[in-house]
Amino acid sequence: MATPGKDQRSAATEPALRIITRRLREIMSAETDGQSKLDKIVRAISGIMVAEVCSIYLKRQDGTLELFATEGLNPSAIHNTFMKRGEGLVGRCAESAQPINEADAQTHPSFSFRPETGEEPFHSLLAVPATRRGDVLGVLVVQNKNRKEYSDEDVEVLETTAMVLAEHLASGDVAGVNTATEFSRAVGHVVRGQPIAEGLALGHVVFHESRVVVTDLRSEDHAGEIKRLEAAVDELRASLDELLDQGDLAGAGEHRDIFDAYRMFAHDRGWLKRMKEAIARQGLTAEAAVERVQNDQHARLMSQPDSYLRERLKDLDELSERLLRVLTGRTGGTAKTSALPPDAILVARTMGPADLLDYDRTRLKGLVIEDSSGSSHVAIVAKALGIAAVGQARGVVERTDAGNPIIVDAATGDVYIRPTSEVIASFADKARFQARRQRKYRQMKDVQPVTRDGQRIGLQINAGLLVDMAQLDASGADGIGLFRTELQFMISKALPRLERQTQMYRSILDEAGQRPVTFRTLDIGGDKVLPYLRQPHEENPALGWRAIRMSLDRPGLLRTQVRALLRAAVGKDLRLMLPMVASVAEVDAARVLIEREIDLNRRRNAGEPATIAIGAMIEVPSLLFDLDPVFDRVEFASVGSNDLVQYLFAADRNNQRMGSRYDVLSYPVLRALGAIVAAARRAGKPVTLCGEMAGRPLEAMALVALGFRSLSMAPSALGPVKAMLVSLDAGKASGLVETLLQSGATGSAREALLRFVAETGVDM
Ligand code: PEP
Ligand code: MG
Repeated sequence: MATPGKDQRSAATEPALRIITRRLREIMSAETDGQSKLDKIVRAISGIMVAEVCSIYLKRQDGTLELFATEGLNPSAIHNTFMKRGEGLVGRCAESAQPINEADAQTHPSFSFRPETGEEPFHSLLAVPATRRGDVLGVLVVQNKNRKEYSDEDVEVLETTAMVLAEHLASGDVAGVNTATEFSRAVGHVVRGQPIAEGLALGHVVFHESRVVVTDLRSEDHAGEIKRLEAAVDELRASLDELLDQGDLAGAGEHRDIFDAYRMFAHDRGWLKRMKEAIARQGLTAEAAVERVQNDQHARLMSQPDSYLRERLKDLDELSERLLRVLTGRTGGTAKTSALPPDAILVARTMGPADLLDYDRTRLKGLVIEDSSGSSHVAIVAKALGIAAVGQARGVVERTDAGNPIIVDAATGDVYIRPTSEVIASFADKARFQARRQRKYRQMKDVQPVTRDGQRIGLQINAGLLVDMAQLDASGADGIGLFRTELQFMISKALPRLERQTQMYRSILDEAGQRPVTFRTLDIGGDKVLPYLRQPHEENPALGWRAIRMSLDRPGLLRTQVRALLRAAVGKDLRLMLPMVASVAEVDAARVLIEREIDLNRRRNAGEPATIAIGAMIEVPSLLFDLDPVFDRVEFASVGSNDLVQYLFAADRNNQRMGSRYDVLSYPVLRALGAIVAAARRAGKPVTLCGEMAGRPLEAMALVALGFRSLSMAPSALGPVKAMLVSLDAGKASGLVETLLQSGATGSAREALLRFVAETGVDM
């Protein structure tokens, strides 16, 4: 089609423009909130321009573009889809302040696929910047299914619309929509996140910004680009080796496994091959090839619900960024360090584990990330480095400026931005107080956990990796009350085979020496997904095919694990615990499988454990009504209160909104726990509790009052719980809880327990 001349074009586009401008005026003058206005705008544009998709991305304080409104894409992606500066075609449009018109956007090297938007069917894309006085405030996008280049008329209509939109945005007509300028700079702002690495840190904000914007996309010199790429990859590998082997991180530990996997990623031949192919086949520059392959991987992996794979994706993002920095000569790692204040708190939207190592540890006090969870790789490295870290701190990047004073309370997950001097003073006190308490807990390591009235309480720790075993000595615990075997499986690249498993369990038992270790058989499924194991997609994974259910359906997995444990525990006491048991029949079926392995092992004549005890976790409410038959069939039981409480209240344990809604000290929970203790007594079998509540002093006190004489908790909780125990009169506490339970009280016992603590001087 011939391009019409300017005059003709204006004539052709005028009606559409007039209609859109009028609609925009109507929408903007209506008495509705900003979000509804944006929603109406995208609907109007999509109708008038006959576009199947119309979306508005607005720029946030840090330059990220956020999807604010869409007609045609998944509505759930609104406020959940972000493009970093220069990322994807939308980011590129904002960065260059130029329209982007692509007939097949998904084949463009910069295309960044976002599965949550559901944009797969839409091939053509037109993106124009919404600019005011040279500032790009956002990007307006239309998309269609058929592969077409948009006409000049379309571009002109959308550009004009974007300009009008920008005027309205700048004049505040879209009230409530938090564009770059609108976030309050209020003093004393608190962002609530999730603790990911313990500690308390006071300091000043330093932004972690890593993105390199690729501007040169195409090159004819394929051989030259491939050479540049190869040289850059070599340099990247060498610099990584140096970084990951440095100083005190060189020793063993969970972070080591992560670094090894990360290094393997960097040395992955497939990665280099794919980038070279992108240069040779698509005529890309080395930089564009890095980006292309990164985006392709995103497209492949992002749709996976699996958190392990998403972590891998973050590793790949970080590596790609590093490689881009090498290619563009921006490897000034030292600049990061020299510019660092002595009390730096890093603030980042996202971060890979090796990124953290670029910063001088002696100056780095804390870390706040918008998207990481406690099991993320960067969290594990932060723990290894002893840096207080909070993840899931939504909005923290927009709400802070570089150099702002900031407090990271990784006990509660609260992040205080620009705190008042009173808040700073109180946290400085708290930090000193915590340091004192830590000293005191360390000194209590060898004190026996005996209550004032002579009750010896077994205190064990929860573990999951070899590295955790060091905590046994450090904490003075009686043993490992819960060894989560799935952790090793989750950080492995492939299913650990019999030999590898045997070796690992042997090392664990060696480290434990005389102290008991309770191995929980694989608790996978739900949110714990193994990347190399095919699992069906489930609407409701917490209620799905997981743990013992999977083990019974796929007995090979459980049998191999049991075989490895039997071989590892020759001459020792072997304790096996079954997770997520929901019926007595499951205990029977698991016992049959285990006993078959015991028989097989006996026939091998290679030695066997001195004793074997099989236990069940009580964490599914159905068992509460089958307690006696369950205790009949096991040698011990352990309450998984994290899951038990989740299922009792039907409240997702990982959903922050549910976090404080149902108290674990409420009467329904206390009654359920009391019934478990009573059943254990009737059966004369030991029972322990290994959920998070065991590690909180007030909750632990309630458990002891209910009759628990064994608790298993995170190693760091042992000191505080022991301090509570030695100051507690367990008999008096039991009396109180009994009275409360009999009084018919409803709600939570927390207040009453706190009063008891204050009145009787329990140390908390
Ligand atoms: C529990 O559910 O309380 C428990 C200890 O197991 P996990 O947290 O591993 O599910
Ligand atoms: Mg559980």
